[in-house]
Amino acid sequence: MSSCTSCGSPIPDGQGSSCSMCYGDMSYGSDGYYEAWAAEEMRQEELKEEEIRQYQEELQREESIVMVIQEKGHWFCLSYQGKRIESGLDCQASIYIGLENRNITKKDIDDNKKLANVTDKAVLMAASYLGYMTREEFEG
Ligand SMILES: [Zn+2]
Repeated sequence: MSSCTSCGSPIPDGQGSSCSMCYGDMSYGSDGYYEAWAAEEMRQEELKEEEIRQYQEELQREESIVMVIQEKGHWFCLSYQGKRIESGLDCQASIYIGLENRNITKKDIDDNKKLANVTDKAVLMAASYLGYMTREEFEG
């Protein structure tokens, strides 16, 4: 085994004086360094894309959560100002809920904070009454 004259990495005999990374060519020699690096870069890129995709799905889910009611229900839009559960970042979140009556309880609010992905400390900014209707009517 000899070593790359630029970075000192061990390289197979007969490859000359550079490793494939320092030579800058994936097909140079047989040490496989460049190839391994490129594969890792690609894997990181895919991971990033997967994270972005999941995050976007998450956002969409948060914006469109609707709770199921049996027949007709009283619909509200609850808006929160707070922090996201996972990231801890400041956010505004809103959620639509259909309830059997017009009373919104503390439990309704607490449950909705979780569904809206805001922490327990989030502040309820507004509870807008939207009307008495079925889920189908509500969703148009
Ligand atoms: Zn090298």
